[in-house]
Amino acid sequence: MRRVSILGSTGSIGQNTIDLIARAPNDYEVVALTGGLNIQKLADDACRLGAELAVTAHEDRLDDLRAALAGSGVEAAAGVRAIAEAAARPADWVMSAIVGAAGLAPGLEALKQGATLALANKETLVCAGSLVLRTAKAHGAQLLPVDSEHSAVFQALVGEDIGAVERVIITASGGAFRDWPLEELANATVEQASSHPNWDMGQRITIDSASMFNKALEVIETHEYFAVSPEQIEVLVHPESIVHAMVGFRDGAMMAHMGEPDMRHAIGYALHWPERRELPVKQLDLAKLGQLNFKAPDLTRYPALKLAWDVMDRGGLAGAVFNAAKERALDHFIARRIGFLDMADAVAAVLDRFDAADSLIDAPMTLDNVQQTDHLARQWVDDTVVERAG
Ligand code: NDP
Repeated sequence: MRRVSILGSTGSIGQNTIDLIARAPNDYEVVALTGGLNIQKLADDACRLGAELAVTAHEDRLDDLRAALAGSGVEAAAGVRAIAEAAARPADWVMSAIVGAAGLAPGLEALKQGATLALANKETLVCAGSLVLRTAKAHGAQLLPVDSEHSAVFQALVGEDIGAVERVIITASGGAFRDWPLEELANATVEQASSHPNWDMGQRITIDSASMFNKALEVIETHEYFAVSPEQIEVLVHPESIVHAMVGFRDGAMMAHMGEPDMRHAIGYALHWPERRELPVKQLDLAKLGQLNFKAPDLTRYPALKLAWDVMDRGGLAGAVFNAAKERALDHFIARRIGFLDMADAVAAVLDRFDAADSLIDAPMTLDNVQQTDHLARQWVDDTVVERAG
């Protein structure tokens, strides 16, 4: 029996993970499930899977969680610290599927106890790549990518020497607005940005796909995880979302990873790694698909994407600044305080401000420094939004 925990169990990745685990109940012992506001789903899943512990991020919802778990024998806890403690509870495999920078600290806790960390939360590597990799190494913990693009690169690299890699190409569907006239993008609404042509995901990542902030995070994640230089990373728009990534080697060969757009591929690969097991996903039918299309992204349409290279050039805490600024700009967009294209403008302005903050540029990568930088960058976005509104 493998002991498994799922951080962010009530979300899109969390539910897909539960779907796989629930199909083989005799193989897994569920240690902890964590969620946020969706108390009923958290409690129902914890009872159904016989979890030891269920945790909500919100301290003021502890009584609701206790009530929902009454008589089940599942422990209840609440708050940010309780989530980190859940991640630290001994387990063999931990899914990191909290959304946003809030996933970083619990992910580090899971690594410190030596668990295999299946990393859907891309923000973890974007905000604190060197800290995370250092922590995994120090504790003999395995880090496995779950983002479909990074899982694809990981799979294409099995048995290969990273030194033989010429370039890594990750694909992007182009999001909700890939076919929109450029001049209409500034007026795109939250509802329009929240619908994805191919993938069924949480709202925040769906909007980030429309703006390509999500792809920008993934480019930085590729740089951190695989230690390839910024110049070796490319993005191609691929509307069918069948090829998730390609690795080009020095001898001119290129390995492409293909699969139906279903996150259970990448989750299942990380769950069963290093084995491959049967998964409840559709097999590809290329004859039926007929053709696959690729084109270079138009950076005037996706200004957020270009920022990824600006962040990698800066290095250090720039990733934490970028991610926090992006999260805060997204909050303002969802609250309808700023427009769709204003998000990239606000984040670019915050990166410029970072360049003038000498103490941050030279600061070592510690969890405290990352969290303080995150806090500051959010404040800078608020300043920018207020300034522009006035
Ligand atoms: P969702 O929004 O669907 O789910 C997020 C999860 O995190 C929920 O369980 C939510 O709880 C919980 N949560 C939200 N805020 C907090 C917080 N402050 N502290 C603790 N828990 C919190 O997101 P997704 O599942 O779509 O994405 C999760 C992560 O995986 C993200 O980093 C995303 O970028 C990444 N990812 C997602 C993919 C996808 O297909 N969805 C693909 C690849 C990567 P509740 O809902 O109960 O409030």
